[in-house]
Amino acid sequence: MTENERREILKAGKPEVDLAGEPSLGSIVGDEEVEAAVRTIRGSMNPEVGFRTGGSEGEPFEAELAEFFGTAHAVTVNSAGAGLDLAMRALNLEPGDEVICPSINFKAAPMAIVGHGGTWVPCEVDPRTLQADPADVERRITPRTRAILPVHMNGLSAPMDELLAIARRHPHPKHGPLKVIGDAARACGGGYKGARIGKHGWMTVFSFQTQKNMTTLGEGGAITTDDPEAADTLRKLRFFGGHDGWGSSCLMTNVQAAVGRVQLRRLDAMVNARRRIAAERSRMLAEAAELTLPYEPPDCRHSFYLYTILVPKAWAGDGRDRLCAMLREDYRVNTVIANPPVHSTVPFLRAHVGDVHLPVSEEVGARLFCPPIHPAMSDHDNRYICAAILDAAARLRDELGA
Ligand SMILES: *Cc1c(COP(=O)(O)O)cnc(C)c1O
Repeated sequence: MTENERREILKAGKPEVDLAGEPSLGSIVGDEEVEAAVRTIRGSMNPEVGFRTGGSEGEPFEAELAEFFGTAHAVTVNSAGAGLDLAMRALNLEPGDEVICPSINFKAAPMAIVGHGGTWVPCEVDPRTLQADPADVERRITPRTRAILPVHMNGLSAPMDELLAIARRHPHPKHGPLKVIGDAARACGGGYKGARIGKHGWMTVFSFQTQKNMTTLGEGGAITTDDPEAADTLRKLRFFGGHDGWGSSCLMTNVQAAVGRVQLRRLDAMVNARRRIAAERSRMLAEAAELTLPYEPPDCRHSFYLYTILVPKAWAGDGRDRLCAMLREDYRVNTVIANPPVHSTVPFLRAHVGDVHLPVSEEVGARLFCPPIHPAMSDHDNRYICAAILDAAARLRDELGA
């Protein structure tokens, strides 16, 4: 885009939709979802039926999820947070047992590790992909390591084959190969080596919270697995332990499942729309040589839950913050920092890990920012966002004399 084109786009007006950096609704919800919800509520009004999961919609939803992800089982839950809790509970961690999980992350997965008696061992990410760095993961393995918990950060797949190979190379003395559990809360509908994200590893946890790639009325989640014993354990844990153990209640309602079935049918189209917007955006932003744009490895299908940009090292911290402030104040473009390293920014987790340093994560956390992306974003709004970023970056370049 020439400087003149940029000026014209900015003059033509700010975005039609004032989206947050991470929009409050991440999917497209229409009449079909409304009708599915109303139909299921009507069906639940009968005292012999009620709203129970496993009613008319719960079992078909789980079957359709398993078919979509290509796994033997899918177990729905009321949130990904609860799903991560159940996955960690299923490990039966003993005090001192370690789980390796990236620090460039939302805090949910590290919280689940700590909440179920484990020791969180934070690891570095590859700055190019924001995914767990296999070499760094391998260096952090000890005889107490039980599991690796990669997050499919911002919609792209973690390097699962490398992580699974590491898990096999370093078996736990009692429990055998390390378990690899994916947090795919942001990556529903993404792909990896010709399969869906959710196929590789012992378990994969998805979120259907309102901001995610698909939603079940604002909250919800699912766990996929090919291991029948794991599926059985998860089903017991999500409803008070079955007959023989501890459990809680983490069920999704029948109405949510009905809406989830419609959203799942829309998911590929919504991810395709995100990918088209991201590709257009990358084409337009390519001329800002100092910005590092999202990288999609050839064997991955990014779902672009977020579109993550890195500013140059010289702009880390203050320069990045200045750029985001300019975007908000001068162009009305919101951004989100998703996410700074949680080992140093979340007090509870910082107290847990103590004084550790992760130089790569700390630097990446000071360089990244995400402008809004949404499957229904208009080309006009996408062009405006790009023009604003190009203009603000050019101004910052002048300010900093770089
Ligand atoms: C949103 C999110 C979660 C939590 O999902 P909920 O369904 O809201 O519990 C966990 N991990 C990551 C990476 C997330 O983005």
